[in-house]
Amino acid sequence: MKIALIKGDGIGVDVAEAAMAVMEAALQKTGQALPVYDEILAGAGYFQETGTDIEPDGEMRAGEADAIFLGAIGMPSIRHADGTEISPHLRLRDRFELFAGVRPVKAYPNAPQRLADPRAAGIDLIILRESTEGLFYSAAAHKRTLVANNDEVQDVLRVTRKTTTKLHHFAFNLARKRRAKGKNGTLTCVDKANVFTSLAFFRQIFNEVKETYPDVPVGYNYVDAQALDLVRKPWEFDVLVMENMFGDILSDLAGGLVGGMGMAACGEIGETTGLFQPAHGSAPDIMGQDKANPLAAILSAALMLDYLAEKLGNSHLADAADLINSSVDESFEQNALRPMEFGGDMGTKAVTNQVLTGIAELA
Ligand code: ATP
Ligand code: MG
Repeated sequence: MKIALIKGDGIGVDVAEAAMAVMEAALQKTGQALPVYDEILAGAGYFQETGTDIEPDGEMRAGEADAIFLGAIGMPSIRHADGTEISPHLRLRDRFELFAGVRPVKAYPNAPQRLADPRAAGIDLIILRESTEGLFYSAAAHKRTLVANNDEVQDVLRVTRKTTTKLHHFAFNLARKRRAKGKNGTLTCVDKANVFTSLAFFRQIFNEVKETYPDVPVGYNYVDAQALDLVRKPWEFDVLVMENMFGDILSDLAGGLVGGMGMAACGEIGETTGLFQPAHGSAPDIMGQDKANPLAAILSAALMLDYLAEKLGNSHLADAADLINSSVDESFEQNALRPMEFGGDMGTKAVTNQVLTGIAELA
């Protein structure tokens, strides 16, 4: 198993190292070989040193690994000559057509909880965001802005049969897997099919794909109603599939219900590879102070192991993922995880050590 490791900038380096240490412990505990790493230098710091944002053969090497793990990239003070941010990871998303953006949103005991309703403790859902087209797509081959003059600007909402079919199959499989683990397992198609022809098409393809998964219960929601429902009764939802910009907005909304950036894991998955990273950035304001919460990165490593289990046909890798998730669950349950991000007393190292302890103690 080979992992392309891009630690990147700022706290990205610390949380990536924490996540890999936890992943190794979980692999060892489940009797498996450790991965081979191909560390790829990239990011704002690398750009400042060399004038390029990723090693010259970095993109190619990333594609040769079984999966890509990324800490965080970017530094507000370091930019390209034209003022744009350093973001080689966006090129990786384009290059490998990472269409499925997976954002788990889960409430943990003793972690921040914005809703007073006790049922909010049961929030456990996934926002599945199409990540290469929709209203945000940046694929170099297509123009996002159709008209831009002094009087009018038009951006495009692009929905293709090819990508949407892949996305919905991914969504149904994800819901099915969660159902097998005893979760609610309902798949909700979030769109605005009543207004946009493109999103009526999105729903039409959802319904076509649905025929293959009669065991998966489905729901439909317009995105505005979904925003309301995510605040009113988020515990009723399981997997929510939607186009790019809706997913951008609702994943922040849902993430805000259950904690800070340091809990937000993320996987971006395509047909040939997947890129896993915490949803947060390099957080220069807290870098080098052992303050960053590594849990988003650690939970992203668990997502990566689940992905690799399927890709490589090795269910033991899923056991290692379960072990990481259980350690985080148990540790929160015992109030043994108190990240500084939530006003607790535990920095990056202490949080990482507790997750390692949890793994060592779990049977
Ligand atoms: P990007 O554009 O790369 O997403 P950003 O400007 O949104 O970056 P982040 O780096 O995500 O900024 O940080 C936003 C805020 O959240 C910062 O104040 C940062 O300190 C805090 N933060 C981000 N990640 C963590 C973390 N893992 N632990 C604690 N605090 C974090
Ligand atoms: Mg951000």
